[in-house]
Amino acid sequence: MIKEIQAKVLLSHAKQPDPWFGIKYGMNLYRGCQHQCIYCDSRSECYQIENFNDEVLVKANAIDLLRKELASKRVKGTVGTGSMNDPYMPLEGRLNLTGRALAVIAEFHFPVHVMTKSDLVLRDLDTLCQINRVYAAVSFTITTADDELGQMLEPGAPLVSERFRALKTLAEHGIHTGVTMMPILPFIEDDEENIGRIVEQAHAHGAAYIIPWFGMSLRDRQRAYYYDKLDDLFPGLRQKYERTFGDQYHCAAPNADRLARVFNELCDRRGIATRMKWYEPITATQIKLF
Ligand code: SF4
Repeated sequence: MIKEIQAKVLLSHAKQPDPWFGIKYGMNLYRGCQHQCIYCDSRSECYQIENFNDEVLVKANAIDLLRKELASKRVKGTVGTGSMNDPYMPLEGRLNLTGRALAVIAEFHFPVHVMTKSDLVLRDLDTLCQINRVYAAVSFTITTADDELGQMLEPGAPLVSERFRALKTLAEHGIHTGVTMMPILPFIEDDEENIGRIVEQAHAHGAAYIIPWFGMSLRDRQRAYYYDKLDDLFPGLRQKYERTFGDQYHCAAPNADRLARVFNELCDRRGIATRMKWYEPITATQIKLF
C-alpha cells in the first residue's frame, strides 16, 4: 500500500560527515521500501516503520521542505540518500520524487551521494552530471554476482547485471561510482569465488571503489523476518545461524579475515579503491588563488 504523509523535517544533520560515505545531511523521501531485501535492517524496531513489508509512505511535501532547508544551511556538505530505503524503488518511476529532489540539490550547488540497487538512477543522469560540477557519487549495493541469487535475496530490486550496466554508464559520464558490497551474508555469499566475481565485474564496468562488509547485522524484527525467509529459501540454515550467532547484533562471516585479505589483494591488482573519495569543500585560500 502507498500512502502520502506530511513530514515536519526532511534532512537529518550530522556534526561530522559519517566515516564510510562522508555524508553530512541524510535525506529520506520515503519510509518503507519496495525492494524488500530479506536482510534489510530498516525492519528493526528502533526505526519505528511499523508496516515495512506492506506499506510505503511518501513524503508528499519533501520538495518544499528540501528547498527551504537547503536555503537555510550555512555549511555545505554531502546530501546522502538511500540508507533507509531505496530512492529508486519502482514507485519512484511514477512519482519522480528523487528526480525532483536532485534538481533542487543541483540548484543549490550541494554535493550528493546516492546509494541504490536500481538502474532507474540513469533517468537522472543529466541532473547528476550537473551536480557533479560540485560532487556527485552513486554507489550500487551488490553483494552477489549471481542474478538468480540476487533475485532470491532482493526480490523487488533490479537484476545485479542491470546495476553493473548502470554503473558503467555513470562512470563513463565522470560520476564517482562504485559498489557497496554489504552485507555479505554468512554461509550464503561469503565465499572467495563470489567476492572475486564481484571485484572482476566491478572492474570491468569501471567502478572506482568497492566498500566491503563481510557480515551482517541482525536484531529483533529484522532477525525474525530474515530467519523466516531462510526457512523458505535455504532450509536448515536458520539453525546454523542460531548456533553461530545466538542473539548477537554484529554477525561477522566466520571467514571474514580471510575474505578481507583476498578482497584487498584483488582490488590492489585491479586498481580499485576500498574507500570512496569524499566531497572536499573549496577553501578560502583556494578561492583566492583562482
Ligand atoms: S534496497 Fe535497501 S532499504 Fe530497500 S529493502 Fe533493500 S536493503 Fe532495505
